[in-house]
Amino acid sequence: MSVLDTLEFDNRFTAELPADPHPANVPHQAPGASFSRVAPTATAAPQVLAVSNELAADLGFTDEQLASEEFRDMVTGNLVLPGMDSFAMRYGGHQFGNWAGQLGDGRAINLGELVTSTGRQTLQLKGAGPTPYSRSADGLAVLRSSVREFLCSEAMYHLGVPTTRALSLSLTGDQVMRDMLYDGHPEFEPGAVVCRVAPNFIRFGSFELPASMGEIDELRALTNFTIREYYPELWPADGNPTPQTYVDFYAEVVRRTAETIVHWQRVGFVHGVMNTDNLSILGLTIDYGPYGWLEDYDPDWTPNTTDKHGKRYRFGNQPGIGQWNLAQLGNALYPLVEDADALQSAIDGYVTHFRNGHQDMMADKLGLAAWNTETDEPLMVELFELLQAAETDMTLFYRGLAEVSSADDVSADDRFAPLHNAFYLPDEQLTDELRGRWDAWLDSYVARVRTDGTSDDARRIAMNAVNPLYVMRNYLAQLAIDRSTEGDHAGITELLDVMRNPYTRQPGKEAFAEKRPDWARTRVGCSMLSCSS
Ligand code: AMP
Ligand code: MG
Repeated sequence: MSVLDTLEFDNRFTAELPADPHPANVPHQAPGASFSRVAPTATAAPQVLAVSNELAADLGFTDEQLASEEFRDMVTGNLVLPGMDSFAMRYGGHQFGNWAGQLGDGRAINLGELVTSTGRQTLQLKGAGPTPYSRSADGLAVLRSSVREFLCSEAMYHLGVPTTRALSLSLTGDQVMRDMLYDGHPEFEPGAVVCRVAPNFIRFGSFELPASMGEIDELRALTNFTIREYYPELWPADGNPTPQTYVDFYAEVVRRTAETIVHWQRVGFVHGVMNTDNLSILGLTIDYGPYGWLEDYDPDWTPNTTDKHGKRYRFGNQPGIGQWNLAQLGNALYPLVEDADALQSAIDGYVTHFRNGHQDMMADKLGLAAWNTETDEPLMVELFELLQAAETDMTLFYRGLAEVSSADDVSADDRFAPLHNAFYLPDEQLTDELRGRWDAWLDSYVARVRTDGTSDDARRIAMNAVNPLYVMRNYLAQLAIDRSTEGDHAGITELLDVMRNPYTRQPGKEAFAEKRPDWARTRVGCSMLSCSS
């Protein structure tokens, strides 16, 4: 009798899609397979450091279950329950623009699909040991990257951004060797596992791999499965999908991907590794690696040092990369559609979805009732230039803008005052000339706001509902990691607590809403991250 006996699993992915017939857990190619059955590796001394309580409750876990040894063992790969069917998924991907062939879950092991009151949710352990897709790597994850994934998944959820979730963060008790900066200095680091949760973890690359290998039956099976289970509104009543079914599915993935990337641009999130194996077929943000948050507004910024030369995945490039990745998905679906024009018109929708979504989002961020291209486009263009002309904290800027008075008896200085705190180096960078441009911009902004007739109070409330005050600033995560590495794990829960209400000012939590301190400007982990994790 286990306290987890009440959990019910319904493992459709493994029940309906082709399994790898090769039984050994050694690196191998798995032609024709959607997945390989594999068990997580047991760990030396598992210890749960943090749980996302609201997610646990949504999944139906009781307090007794959460406190149990069985739960600890389940989320660290030490206990596979009878109803589970653990596996690693096979997929491929374009990495930094180049086709990379078979990749697959090299360190993620799906435990099973938990039946919950909101549908089936896949539980997946990241860092639970090698799989047939580990290639030459160890299948493990270290504490620093696991803290980052755990916190950011949940922060994104609370910000209202579509994302995979994180149920728990645990230490494994094992040591893991990593060369953090790939510069010939490997060191042991504490091993960790995150239990991730999503309806599924299917990626664009899951479709690209069978398509690239000419495995058309497998491609069709995976696509049918995805539509039937996750896009049921598109699945034909007679159960016989047509080429149009696949085009409709593709168009919906296009729409969702555009929508998610609009959210990233809204909150200042830089994914860092938008390879096609890291894009979810559900449009969720997935695979938190060397991601980062814009502090000073800089569209050319990427936190990923592995990408520092081409900066392919910099903030301002994310919308275009989304489209490029969708084009690869379209190519993969072509054998099921055999109509390039139909697929082309579906992806053409990306530009429209993104533009409309971005305009609505910017109208919201600026507190405008609706986007008026004629007046608002030039306002936005000048704003983005001004934000880059001096280092300006994006998050604090929009919160400050919400406080700007639109009354006509306000001096230029008083009008500007709420923005001052957003500047990193006001004494050096906020020259008279720049201040003059800001004053002119604020005049136009205030004039524009008045045309809506919205009161300043109503505008502030509306703006503060879409412009977060608290984001997962890179240095805040690093401080929590530093403490955790020293054995004090409370910083993780403290940070998560603040991120639960990112739009509401929380008394006593001022430290979490401050600009990046100067020491963090160049520190590894704060402004620079590699793929090593
Ligand atoms: P990423 O771009 O970090 O999502 O990873 C790219 C590929 O490398 C995926 O197939 C991962 O599963 C795999 N991978 C990354 N780190 C490891 C690791 N430590 N062990 C095994 N596979 C890994
Ligand atoms: Mg990945």
